[in-house]
Amino acid sequence: MSDDTLAPCLPANGPRYPLLDDAEGARVPDGADVFDAHVHLFPPRVFEAIWRWFDRHAWPVRYRLHAEEVVEFLRARGVCRFAGLAYAHAPGLARVLNHAMADLARVHPEIVPLGTVLPGEPDADDVLREAFGPLGLRGVKLHCHVQRMAADDPRLEAVYARCAAAGLPVVIHAGREPSFAAYGVDTRTLTAAAQIERVLQRHPRLTLVVPHLGADEFDAYAELLGRYENLWLDTTMAIGEYFEAGPSPAIFPGLAGRLLYGSDFPNLPYAWDRELRRIVREVKDPSALRAVLAGNAARVFGA
Ligand SMILES: [Zn+2]
Repeated sequence: MSDDTLAPCLPANGPRYPLLDDAEGARVPDGADVFDAHVHLFPPRVFEAIWRWFDRHAWPVRYRLHAEEVVEFLRARGVCRFAGLAYAHAPGLARVLNHAMADLARVHPEIVPLGTVLPGEPDADDVLREAFGPLGLRGVKLHCHVQRMAADDPRLEAVYARCAAAGLPVVIHAGREPSFAAYGVDTRTLTAAAQIERVLQRHPRLTLVVPHLGADEFDAYAELLGRYENLWLDTTMAIGEYFEAGPSPAIFPGLAGRLLYGSDFPNLPYAWDRELRRIVREVKDPSALRAVLAGNAARVFGA
């Protein structure tokens, strides 16, 4: 994912990766049952700030759609369920994001709404109590880069314990990539697969989902799957052949029982179904395909 050759013509102060104008499908392939495990839903001003950040530091966002439009877009293309994810980078924001997520999920039953929390903020435990109680949120999304913490940071202990006790999953961006200087931390030294292993050892009942197949420690995360049955990986942006680094092709179908299809929609630089089509191409066995596209996510998110 450190491939600068992908973007030889981009200005020095512009995005690091290009916008692709690749063709997009009108519907999910072959009318498949698709549960997208990784869709972002934010209030309008937060979405707009994120898009500005992506434009400057990461990649140009192709689908500038607000939450209601995201739901409409996916529904129209046959994505019948998806996990709604948000993350907070500042104290006080998690509660706002959680309320917005709960409001959306009340109107749109296809959303499995997850909450977020900024670990270490003064009322972090209350934020989660409210999220899992009155708001009815179904797990927690954390982002080690944006929130500047290692997966085994002591501030996360209470979050893991509460999720394990509630039987709800934690989705945590714990991989080292993409490593942007703009995060203000060196994500390649901040995070490591070994930290996730420590968390799994400390919390044997906790269900953990690591996005992006753990990029770029693909082999280390694949190996952890063999030893921890409550660890899952989502495929988000790791199999679109957009970045130079990618997993071994042997992940399909070898790990199909433990992978969740995820897209990162709408914050994508390429066609919404680019990775969906790759999965359909690679996973020939129909039951393995059903598992990756929907069954595994349904199990993890209890939907
Ligand atoms: Zn994401």
